[in-house]
Amino acid sequence: MSSRRKLLDLFETFLIDCDGVLWRGDKAIEGASRAVQVLQAHNKQVIFVSNNCTKTVDMFQHKFKTILNIDNIPSENIFMPAVSTAIYLKNKMNINTEKVFLIAQDAFKTTLEEHGIPSFGLGPVGIKQVHEWGDFEVDKSVKYVIVTYDPYYCHTKLTEAYLYIKENKAEFIAPDCDNFFAVSSTRKVPGSLSMQAGLSAVLEEKPRIMGKPDPLFFELIQKEHGEMNLSKTIMIGDNYNTDIKFGFNCGISTALVLTGNTKPEDIASFGGKQPDFVLGGLGDINDDLENKFHV
Ligand SMILES: [Mg+2]
Repeated sequence: MSSRRKLLDLFETFLIDCDGVLWRGDKAIEGASRAVQVLQAHNKQVIFVSNNCTKTVDMFQHKFKTILNIDNIPSENIFMPAVSTAIYLKNKMNINTEKVFLIAQDAFKTTLEEHGIPSFGLGPVGIKQVHEWGDFEVDKSVKYVIVTYDPYYCHTKLTEAYLYIKENKAEFIAPDCDNFFAVSSTRKVPGSLSMQAGLSAVLEEKPRIMGKPDPLFFELIQKEHGEMNLSKTIMIGDNYNTDIKFGFNCGISTALVLTGNTKPEDIASFGGKQPDFVLGGLGDINDDLENKFHV
């Protein structure tokens, strides 16, 4: 097969997930650093798209530097739900009259602030008993409620969020909806979804998702980077439910890598639509894909 089957030759824009593709925890994945450098050398548009809500863009740039030895990734080429949420709010809210209630970690608040969006609600709160809520004065200016992973999440925070959404018709925003966080090679713990699901259930309302697999994430990326040629764009990631479905939802090509979340034996269980390519790792972008072309 000719070199036309190399992903490098087939696409101009590469949307690349980070955890499980470039690194696992603080360890580089073999071949990933070289692959990113090859894409850069070929002047490809490379945008890193992560669902991580606990780190800032600066922290990611630091990871690129210390783990992959790459120090030239522009901040605007790192996209995560805190960034897309900030861009979304910047285009929508009136920061002089409206407020954001935030259930998240410090990094999320920092990212919103970097984009000029103030918020409140971070950190531990004094616990309220159920009977105390009768006198709680709902601040009518709170028009947005963001819920993602927060180690201080509790019934008190949930109730405050509920009241803003219910009584103010505040918009319910879930930056990511990851069901689990992998904490070791054998253990997963409940992710952001577990904090959003209780609110969703009592509100009978689904939140607006700001990360993968929602196509709004892609719309907001294009708002910053300009329109992309869908037939020349590929999403590369290790998670079928977030990365690959994101590609499907955006009408772009998809490549699943086997260096993270997905094991080869999982592929058969996907059912329905399969990724366009399955790669042993990101390093395969410059390989002849004759044996790996999956369709
Ligand atoms: Mg991943």
